[in-house]
Amino acid sequence: MQLNRFTLGFALAFGVTLAACHSGKSETVASEAAPTKATASHLPETQRNSSWFQDARDAIADASAVTINNQPGAARNVILFVGDGMGISTVTAARILAGQQQGKPGEEYQLSFEKMPFAGLIKTYNTNQQTPDSAGTATAMLSGVKTKAGVLNVDETVARGDCAGSLERPLTTAVELAEELGKRTGIVSTARITHATPAAAYAKVPERGWEHAAPTGCKDIATQMVEFAAGDGVDVIMGGGRRSFLPKDVTDSEGKSGKREDGINLIEAWQERYSRAGGNAVYIEDQAGFDGIDVTDTDKLLGLFASSHMRYEADRQNDKAGEPSLSAMTGKAIELLNKSERGYFLLVESGRIDHGHHAGSAFNALTDAVEMANAVQVAMDSTSAEDTLIIVTADHSHVMTIAGYPTRGNPILGKVVTNNREGAPEPEVALAADGKPYTTITYANGLGHAHYGDSTDADDRYEDPVSAGRQDISASDTESSGYHQEALVPLGSETHAGEDVGVWARGPGAHLLSGTNEQNLIFHVMAHAGGLLE
Ligand SMILES: [Zn+2]
Repeated sequence: MQLNRFTLGFALAFGVTLAACHSGKSETVASEAAPTKATASHLPETQRNSSWFQDARDAIADASAVTINNQPGAARNVILFVGDGMGISTVTAARILAGQQQGKPGEEYQLSFEKMPFAGLIKTYNTNQQTPDSAGTATAMLSGVKTKAGVLNVDETVARGDCAGSLERPLTTAVELAEELGKRTGIVSTARITHATPAAAYAKVPERGWEHAAPTGCKDIATQMVEFAAGDGVDVIMGGGRRSFLPKDVTDSEGKSGKREDGINLIEAWQERYSRAGGNAVYIEDQAGFDGIDVTDTDKLLGLFASSHMRYEADRQNDKAGEPSLSAMTGKAIELLNKSERGYFLLVESGRIDHGHHAGSAFNALTDAVEMANAVQVAMDSTSAEDTLIIVTADHSHVMTIAGYPTRGNPILGKVVTNNREGAPEPEVALAADGKPYTTITYANGLGHAHYGDSTDADDRYEDPVSAGRQDISASDTESSGYHQEALVPLGSETHAGEDVGVWARGPGAHLLSGTNEQNLIFHVMAHAGGLLE
């Protein structure tokens, strides 16, 4: 499969030359019957002067100028962005929301990564599950091997929760390979740093829930992070999840207790380990600490900004001690990692798009997705496509859908307002067959409709009972932050969805992600372009 891809890549690279030779030859042989080609000037003026026409021709010119680099190891740096739960409908809706926030209709807007030259589709299923979970999918992306739902970096023959089996069948991750090559490495997430996606960068466990405790013979995820043995250890770690690093009788700076039963303070253990190694190991846990980072004088950085997950982006201003945004963390991580000539590997997860959806809040899911696009923009601005491969994808989708026939520019979080019916003076709120209005965005399952005013924390929804099915939302401002969309099938938490997700890429090897591929291909593209494997 890889060989075919390279062959295709070379054919694309040399396509211009081949076409030129061919047309030169055919001119001498069969010049008599060549029909006249229409030029754009033959087309109706309204057609050729249309911005759709012009923009598309410009897009072809831009795409034709993109160079394809198949050279193994050409990507000195590799950055993998994972929007947890950022399915295609989430990307579309986030794009419209971002455009509308800037006063545009929205549909035409492009998120940062949508301007990348290559895109493809990714099949996300786990080896034992049609609709996947984040542990199996993150393992596929970071180890190159698909596995079961719920397990991290152990192969598909290991049963979930089988400690002994997991010790016999571990998988090596891209972060370990990068560390062994002397590259710098970083992990950034808005979720707990011990949560499935970030944990897949460094931990090997048959149960993703072992964040701060594991059965005898196995090590919990937080301990594995501190003891990570490849190279000189992970250089930059930022996210939430302090509680898994602190004993249960220790209260943190925001008044929350630790979770560890073994009495070990892993934050102190991390500081001791890396201080002993001779460098300046810096631990931070709030906005002030983040603002105070001295890039030149920091060799290792551990930032744990929340007891559990960090705040939703829209809710960030409500944090007691202050938290940096995903884009700020991404920019700082790149600055810190960019100090090595051997390059770096960075994993950035927007972990809470997924949580917004699970709680049935499109508002929180979409505002986090927009912030993820901001973080990608930071990475695009601070790196070069010559030597840095940036990949943007999702681990899986969610059951959020964009439906009805809303008129162009209708607020994406609004009720469906259709184009004028014949004879109607104004566009009007559409009514369903039950006589009630409905929103463009709804969920196929979950907790269902609720409204918490201007709350910016989707997790409020778990306080109240399931109210799935049709509701009268006439009086609700569905665009307000506390609105939770209707859901069809009643469930205590909205679920992941099983359709393909997108992948967008820029830099050496980016073209290898074109087409419809299995999710584990992402590791192999990073390993090839990033020179992680021969
Ligand atoms: Zn999820």
